[in-house]
Amino acid sequence: MEKRSIYADNAATTAVSEEVLEAMLPYFREGYGNASSIYKLGRDAQRAVEDAREKVAKALGAEPREIYFTSCGSEADNWAIKGTAELMAKKGKKHIITSVFEHHAVLHTTEYLEKHGFEVTYIPVSDKGLIDPEDIKNAIREDTALVTIMYANNEIGTIQPIEEIAAICHEKGVIFHTDAVQAVGHVDIDVHKQGIDMLSLSGHKIHAQKGIGALYIRKGLTLPNLIHGGGQERGKRAGTENVPAIVGLGVAIEAATRNISEKNVGITKQRNKLIDGILTLPYTRLNGDRDKRLPGNLNISIEGIEGESLLLMLDMYGICASSGSACTSGSLDPSHVLLSIGLKHEVAHGSLRLSIEDDVTDEDVDYILDVIPKVVNRLREMSPVWEKMMKGEKYE
Ligand SMILES: *Cc1c(COP(=O)(O)O)cnc(C)c1O
Repeated sequence: MEKRSIYADNAATTAVSEEVLEAMLPYFREGYGNASSIYKLGRDAQRAVEDAREKVAKALGAEPREIYFTSCGSEADNWAIKGTAELMAKKGKKHIITSVFEHHAVLHTTEYLEKHGFEVTYIPVSDKGLIDPEDIKNAIREDTALVTIMYANNEIGTIQPIEEIAAICHEKGVIFHTDAVQAVGHVDIDVHKQGIDMLSLSGHKIHAQKGIGALYIRKGLTLPNLIHGGGQERGKRAGTENVPAIVGLGVAIEAATRNISEKNVGITKQRNKLIDGILTLPYTRLNGDRDKRLPGNLNISIEGIEGESLLLMLDMYGICASSGSACTSGSLDPSHVLLSIGLKHEVAHGSLRLSIEDDVTDEDVDYILDVIPKVVNRLREMSPVWEKMMKGEKYE
């Protein structure tokens, strides 16, 4: 088969789309004004920012004044969690509930708060990568300040029962935040209808540029600032507005949330074909619930191989993919997400994540399904672990 170039790592980042770039360009040169300036150049920039805010609000079912632009998804998570912690600590509430398999933007923030006098409960997930809302109900205490649960997991793509969790929180008078960075543009979101108090999103996962995000904060909830300085974002988040990035985010979220269910039909079909094809290899398993998952996500453990070697070989075939192991961070520890669903270390090490979008063709799918068995068989032939497995010996 002829070599192809396939980008199957959209959960890591996406390319800036043509329409986003086109919308951004004028704001680098002609429209470079400071959105806080009084003259026309500034007012035009201000209008562009407010127009983008309306687009983000509309995509989430929120009001424009409930949207705050941030420098990234991680900042939105930090602000939501640290801000709520500070706010509620004044009322004597210093307990936070989250899950064991959140993104590090959440987990490292709660760990930081633990060092500063907060108590954190980490809710476990099932072997399918799902959270039981009952567990959250049981974990809520008198002094619980915040529940923060991700909408969709970035590694295994599982989608959590957000509306149900939000309802439980409200019943108990607890603030609910969700990291929806992976969910926006892939599932229909309506923050008001779903009872979400705060929601984080990021531009570069939906074809805007890197370095722009937003936090939705329900009106009536007043968080303390994370970034102090000028009066931007209604005095809540200082820093001269990144007008081109904000404009790009507005266009990107409008495009991403257009016809989500129609787009998902085709993506799900291709994704399922990939899952079924890869699972025909022996000693493989799908990680995460098959149905309650992002349409473009597949995460499969392939025993007897190392994830990193697999990725390097796939790269030689022109396929960009990702592994369950945290090799990119220079650590050889297996992914906390895969361990959280009960995988053994050695199985978690040999995991493959593909995250596809609606540009993936039948030829791409056929190519991937042609390459993967070849590569896996080659790696297994060279693997001492696989040899031991085949001899029926125990391996660690
Ligand atoms: C990518 C990602 C983030 C971080 O967003 P940045 O804009 O890269 O800071 C946070 N949470 C999840 C689930 C993500 O996938």
